[in-house]
Amino acid sequence: LPSAQTDIATQATCDDAASCKRYAVQKGYWSDIHINYMVSGSMQKRQPEISRGYYARTEKIWNLISQFVSLTNNLCQIVSFGAGLDTTFWRLHSAGLLPTRYIEVDFQEIVYRKIRAIRNKSPLKGCLGSITSSDQSSLHCEKYHLVTCDLRDTGSLKDKLKSSEVDFSVPTLFLTECVLVYIPPEDSMAILKWCAESFTDAVFVNYEQVRMHDNFGQVMIQNLKARDCLLTGVHPCASLDSQIQRFTSAGWPCVSCDDMWTIYNSLPDRRRIERIELLDESELLQQLMEHYCLCVAVKDVSDIGLTDLHT
Ligand code: SAM
Repeated sequence: LPSAQTDIATQATCDDAASCKRYAVQKGYWSDIHINYMVSGSMQKRQPEISRGYYARTEKIWNLISQFVSLTNNLCQIVSFGAGLDTTFWRLHSAGLLPTRYIEVDFQEIVYRKIRAIRNKSPLKGCLGSITSSDQSSLHCEKYHLVTCDLRDTGSLKDKLKSSEVDFSVPTLFLTECVLVYIPPEDSMAILKWCAESFTDAVFVNYEQVRMHDNFGQVMIQNLKARDCLLTGVHPCASLDSQIQRFTSAGWPCVSCDDMWTIYNSLPDRRRIERIELLDESELLQQLMEHYCLCVAVKDVSDIGLTDLHT
């Protein structure tokens, strides 16, 4: 496929993520009062395995982010690369956990849609405070910045973050939730290196597919293709070790990585959500979750306790 078409397929993955999250929220897996304003269209039924997978991902990332904000007494930044239609900023607002600055980056098309949703829905707009500048490709508010950038262009990424008043001396959490897998390894590496080099105290949270080379992984890829939401040029790490390896060689001193089955089984609220929809058998859930992982990399020069955030 020509690369423009590949990019369109990649961008469509954010609709799939957002509508799976909306479905799980509506079922009661977690609460998010803003997601209905961000995602439109009719609600498509999802399998319980999918909702449990989204629950594990959202809950674990939420735990890490809220711990990070609390640990820094809200004096911190969050930078979400490939943020799509994610509503974490609004969840943090509702929880009284807003950081000093929350920056989201995505392709022009997605940013444009998100800006339109925010402008048209007062419950979304109402959380932003006063808007300092806004056009079709950026929105800058006191604590929230939404900017356009192709993440494969690290030079322009740096400029976009600077235009969002990023502060290199403030503890910063970077989030890539199902994003790096769409980016060629050398470009992902450039991002990981730049983040490690430029920020004094930082955490990088990366969630994505892993071990896609086995039979189950190949079936997953076919299913995703059938749902029309990718996939040419995906670049999954082969193993948890290779995830750790790439963060280490990008200059992150402390790295941990677990698959989502391990993480799911450690979530305290798991028993509650397992009563929402019953599963005939849990083997499929386990296989699915073993093919996703969460990697947490930490650089804590000022010794503020960021290493406690390890998985
Ligand atoms: N992080 C969001 C979430 O979990 O709900 C969205 C995930 S979606 C699967 C992947 C997102 O990464 C899409 O919004 C897509 O547009 C974005 N993305 C992928 N490659 C990108 C690139 N090269 N530059 C900017 N954004 C990119």
